[in-house]
Order: sequence, then C-alpha cells, then structure tokens
Amino acid sequence: MSNKVSTRFAPSPTGFLHVGGMRTALFAWLVARQAGGQFILRIEDTDQKREAVGAAQHIIDCLNWLGLDFDEGPIYQSQRVKEGIYKKCAQKLIDSGRAYADPYTQQEVIEFRAQAKANKQPFLYRNHRPDNPPEWNGSQPLRFKSESKEYSTEDLVMGKLATGPEVIDDFILIKSDGFPTYNFAHIVDDLEMAISHVIRGQEFISSLPNYRNLHEALGEEPPVFATVPHVLNEQGNKKLSKRDGAKDILDYQKEGYLPEAMVNFLATLGWNDGTEQEIFSVSELIKKFDLKKVQKSGAHFDEHRLKWINGSHIRNLDIEKLYEKVEGYWPEPAKNYDREYKKRVLVLVQERLKYFSELPELTKFLFEDLPVNPVLISSHKQLKKFSKGELKAMLEQAKNSLEQSDFTIDDLTSRLNDLLEKTGQKPAVLFSLIRIATTQSPASPALAESMSVLGKDLSLKRINRQIKAL
Ligand code: GLU
Repeated sequence: MSNKVSTRFAPSPTGFLHVGGMRTALFAWLVARQAGGQFILRIEDTDQKREAVGAAQHIIDCLNWLGLDFDEGPIYQSQRVKEGIYKKCAQKLIDSGRAYADPYTQQEVIEFRAQAKANKQPFLYRNHRPDNPPEWNGSQPLRFKSESKEYSTEDLVMGKLATGPEVIDDFILIKSDGFPTYNFAHIVDDLEMAISHVIRGQEFISSLPNYRNLHEALGEEPPVFATVPHVLNEQGNKKLSKRDGAKDILDYQKEGYLPEAMVNFLATLGWNDGTEQEIFSVSELIKKFDLKKVQKSGAHFDEHRLKWINGSHIRNLDIEKLYEKVEGYWPEPAKNYDREYKKRVLVLVQERLKYFSELPELTKFLFEDLPVNPVLISSHKQLKKFSKGELKAMLEQAKNSLEQSDFTIDDLTSRLNDLLEKTGQKPAVLFSLIRIATTQSPASPALAESMSVLGKDLSLKRINRQIKAL
C-alpha cells in the first residue's frame, strides 16, 4: 500500500440517500481533502434485485449539491463484473487453494444448521468443507476457504477490536447468479483502487475479521479502518431509517437549506473538534476534521439543530448573496416588486429565516393585502380576554400616534414603546394586536422593522381596516 490517502464512498443504489449515508460520504471526502488525496465514488450495484431506478444518479446529485467532488468515478461494479475483474481474482484464490465450489443444496444446509443447533453449537460453513469439492463451473456459489484465527484490529473510530477464531467462516465470494458478494467485491476493489482508509457504517464491523482473513489470503496489507457509528432517530432508540421519517437529502435542497450548512450539520453529527464550536465553514472542516474524535456511540439526528445551523449560515451571508440564493422561494406576488424592496424584506427576515421555503409565510404580508382574519384575535391567548371596544380603543390610540411617525425604525420603536406606557398594556397584548392588524399573521419579523418596510400608507390603511372590522 502506498502512503497516499485514498478514500471512497461506495453506496449501493437501492434508494434515496439520507443523512446517515451522506455523513459517511462526507467523512471520507474530508479525510481525502485534508490529506490532499483522492476521493473515489464507487457504485456497488451487484445486487440487481435491490437496485432502484435512478438511485445512482441521485447519489451523484447529492454529492454535487454538497460540493463533495470526486476524483475518480462513478465506477460501477456491474461494469467491472462484465470486465471479469472479480472472476479473475476468484480464480487466483481457487488456484491457491483458498476458494472452493459449494456443493450443497439448500436442504442440506438446513440439515447442517439443525444438526448444529441440536448439538448446541454455532453453525459454521467451514465445518462442512467438502473433501473433494466439485470443479467450480459458475453455477454453484464459490466460497472462501478461511483460516480461523484471532485478530486485533485498530479501528480509527472504534479503537482496538479483538476477535477470536470462532467469528471466522467460509463466506461466499461469487453467488450462483455469477455476481460477486459485497464481501468479496469491495475487497477486490479497495485493493485495486489502492484505498488507504475504509470509512463505512457500523453494520460491517462484525465482518471485519473475515475481511482481514481474505486480505491475507490475497497476500495484501489491510487498509486503515474507520467504522462510523449509526445515526440514531430523534428519540435515540434506534438507527435512523426511512421509516422513522429520514428524508431524502435532496428534499433539504428543495426546502432551501444551504449546502455548506448541511455539510456543517453532517460533520458535527457525532464529531466535534474538542471545543464548543458548532458552526464550521467547509474549509475549517477540511482543516480540523479528525476521525479519531468521532464518537463511538450513535449520534442523534435532530432536525432542529439542522435548522439552527442553517439559520446561522444564513445570517452570515451578505444581503446580495442571500438575495441570489433565495431566488425561486419568494411568494408569488413578489414578482411585482423590485430588487431594492425585496432586499429590504430580506434584511428584515434574515435574523429569523431558518430555511428558504419559510420565506413566503414570513413575508407574504409585505407583498399582498391579506383579508382581515377574525380568528387571529379570537384565538389569541392574550387578546381574546379583551372586548372588541377595548381592542378598538387600543388600535385608535396606536393609529393616532403612528400618523405622526416618519416610519423610520427608530421613530416607530420609540412610538411603540410610548404606547405601551400610555395604554398600560404589555407588549404581548399591544404589539400582538398591531402585528395582527398590519400583517394578518400571528408571528412576523420585528414589529417596527416590519412596519417600516411595509410603509406608512399601507400600515395605517391596515390598522384602519382592522378597526372597522372590530
Ligand atoms: N455498498 C455498501 C453499502 O452501501 C458499502 C459499504 C462500504 O462502504 O464498504 O452499505
């Protein structure tokens, strides 16, 4: 093995990628980029029954969105099957006496298992190796002839993994349909592609000793292993899965998340640099990421955290950049407004925008005249305690003061504060009422700022209309 760092992402194209798989890809990419090495995309499509249409392209789209560029690939294992690469390696193992054709029928295997159970012994294929195996004609499974022994493997994440000989068994290299198993194909490929670091999910950890056994049979040094623990669901009680609502990575793109925020989120899902820092740029991650600091236990998936991280990255953008990025997310009627106005709207919402598809809900009152919705008051926790007359009087008082305002943020702020004093009401009452009148929504960006963007005419018109409706 050369000293050059090469990592790979090797997904099976069986469906959409969610944060679990994407995080593995990111870790492998970060390790390669940090070392100035290679990152390879290998599509493991040898299990054609499980393959989903469009999944390979989807994987590429996800990597592209997040900016995880690959130096080689996509390499398709199915193509390498056609090129006879795995058969060639299998033949080498047959020739060296380390692989044999499995002669047994399913029924026979069932009986072996039953026998082992009756004897209270674990079932192992290697206990049933045929003395004179038939010649391998491609229609029987080809099995690896293992060598049972102990291993101690230093995994970069999990630490020392010591196993006894009992976990070693004769696994299938080539199935009876002619396709190699994952167990075999990935070893052949990792060796041929000179992969230095195998970074992958926890589900393969129990097979590691068997992989090492095969490396030895091939006369090769093993790569460095880094086994990444599962991403767990929000409750933290099981592996995050599609059934738990794990979303397609590209859904986040559609909802208007920033790729750099998604990268930040994924990188810090079970990793930190040993400080309290939570917001990282991609270049900082390339500098600081360290497999040895990835936690050994599963990381909880928390979408609120993703939103928070995304919000932070949004706040770090200058308005011009933000303006470019939110293109396509404005509410419909915004098309009638010019760039300057929309930029003012963005200044107003930048603080609280968590992802771009929230933009219509947050800003529609600035682009269209929403009809008075009486429910906003009748269902409001504070406002429903007041009579219509009382509410009307408060709004009249507000109107009288606001009529004198120049509608700068400063002037509006001081008038709103004066009004609190004059009416003797809390902000949760008075400001909620003015907010509902001017925005027809229960929540909006800061009130003075919102009214300043909305402008004097429209703000007063809406307050008047609310007074009439009361
Ligand atoms: N094809 C395997 C999977 O998608 C890849 C595991 C690996 O990275 O070696 O689970």
